Amino acid sequence: MRRRAVIIGGGPNGLTAATALAQHGGRNAWDVTLVEGRANLGGLAAHREFHPGFFAPGPLADTSRFSPALAAELHLERHGLSFKGGQRGGLIAPGPAHPSIWIDPDDEAATTRSIAAICPADADAYRAFRGLIERLTPPVASLFNGPLPPAVPADPGDWLSLVGHAARLRRLSDRDIFELLRLIPLPVADWMDSTFETPALQAGLAHAGIVDTFLGPRSAGSSATLLLLATTSGASVEGGAGALLAALTAAASAAGANLRTDCAAAGIEVSAGRVSAVTLEDGTSLAADAVLLACHPGAGLLELISPRQLDSELAQAVQNHRSRGTAATLHLALDSLPAPFGQAAIAGAAHVTRLRTSPALEQLERSFNGIRYGELPESPALAVSAPSARGEVTATGEPLAPAGAALLSIHASFVPHDGWTAERRTALEATILKTLAPSIPDLAEHILASHLVTPADLEAEFNLPGGNPHHGEHALDQLLGLRPAPDLDRLPGGLLLASGGTHPGGGLTGIPGSLAASAASAAPRAKSSRA
Ligand SMILES: Cc1cc2nc3c(=O)[nH]c(=O)nc-3n(C[C@H](O)[C@H](O)[C@H](O)COP(=O)(O)OP(=O)(O)OC[C@H]3O[C@@H](n4cnc5c(N)ncnc54)[C@H](O)[C@@H]3O)c2cc1C
Repeated sequence: MRRRAVIIGGGPNGLTAATALAQHGGRNAWDVTLVEGRANLGGLAAHREFHPGFFAPGPLADTSRFSPALAAELHLERHGLSFKGGQRGGLIAPGPAHPSIWIDPDDEAATTRSIAAICPADADAYRAFRGLIERLTPPVASLFNGPLPPAVPADPGDWLSLVGHAARLRRLSDRDIFELLRLIPLPVADWMDSTFETPALQAGLAHAGIVDTFLGPRSAGSSATLLLLATTSGASVEGGAGALLAALTAAASAAGANLRTDCAAAGIEVSAGRVSAVTLEDGTSLAADAVLLACHPGAGLLELISPRQLDSELAQAVQNHRSRGTAATLHLALDSLPAPFGQAAIAGAAHVTRLRTSPALEQLERSFNGIRYGELPESPALAVSAPSARGEVTATGEPLAPAGAALLSIHASFVPHDGWTAERRTALEATILKTLAPSIPDLAEHILASHLVTPADLEAEFNLPGGNPHHGEHALDQLLGLRPAPDLDRLPGGLLLASGGTHPGGGLTGIPGSLAASAASAAPRAKSSRA
């Protein structure tokens, strides 16, 4: 008898889980139903039209963390998915008082040329920095691209997994192992300060350590965030997040998954310690041998399951999982792309579609100060992306902006979660544009319309407690087996976490969804579903 899986949440992880389970055949075949509360699939990564012909992407169009190996496993190439390298480059452009620097992890020659024009010693330091990242990638990426290593090995498979991780670590020199141990708790400001001389380079690289976290550059653990992102990204999806969602949706449907939108789960029934059904908002009940929570763990475990059916210590730990949204995104519809995006020659690069603005670590740290007291930053740290200039599309294949026009998405750290009156929204928008003005002086002349998304908006629209897009802050105490809580084996049988709120974390990776699908398939059959 085929087993029945209900997946709650139709974001990138829910779609990945649906595809993986529905593609199983033979004795391991599943009937898969995915329920999504919103009108469209894609979760935070879906696009929305905010001005005629302009589509705001959820993410900042960085698809470089979706692994080609997972795409191949799910046969996404049959549904139009392809990857291209060389999409990660960006300009550090704090304004006329500072020289612009082109950073492209995929093009060391162009990067070091750009840095050497300002500081030859920093060009050498960058080569050494990238070399370290490349060497640390195998052990770190294998930890964050696969299942958790077992804390207590129980069978030969567990031992093999542990030996594999140990072997990848042993391939590092002693010096690199000590460097890895030193970097994990280190504030990213200290790492950058001890590595580079140019303030804008220090700040531009440090930015990756603080995005969507509650960590400033001088906070412990911010180097680990940078390391995690740098070691788990590679080629990008051609067409961006829209193309990825289109391929996942097509693959899941082709494999027979039933994808239902406007269909929110209202409860999960548990009997005799196992999940038995999912109740929908309209009162319908869907029988289930496995339930995969591809929504925020708090929204799933604390709101859909009766407290009597959930281990109280586990419930408390999930309650304590910190999930504060710390960034807002301002999308701008532009009549055309302004400088410096047209100034490829400055950067020595073919195409500029990403930009960072912080001139120095001190300014990055100052931008973090206000959020501790619920205040707006005076000068937020900005990461700007022009996905329309990279030819990205929505999940239905539309370009993100009309021909000749452009979409600019500006990700502003650190903004508070609460207090979003109309005045405060206007104030933040003005602050973002003022901060960006030295980097893009003529921006205001090009703006046709704007659309601001705050953490409170994300919370309300996506059922995302706290508004953190990763379903939980990336912090040292919220990674690996602690995400979102230890002892997940205390969950009712057949219930699996499948969103960015569980290992290995958020981002457009699909990996939490894929790992949950594997775990569901590997679990022994419940008596009721045995043939
Ligand atoms: C502004 C911004 C920029 C970002 N930039 C990037 C980037 O450049 N690169 C990157 O890798 N990541 C980025 N991210 C993060 C990325 O979008 C998320 O980590 C990713 O979407 C998480 O996928 P998910 O499937 O786990 O969850 P989600 O995308 O949050 O999907 C969960 C879904 O569950 C649904 N749901 C919730 N409750 C229920 C219920 N009761 N019943 C039915 N459905 C329910 C929600 O409606 C939602 O659609 C960004 C996010 C934001 C907001």
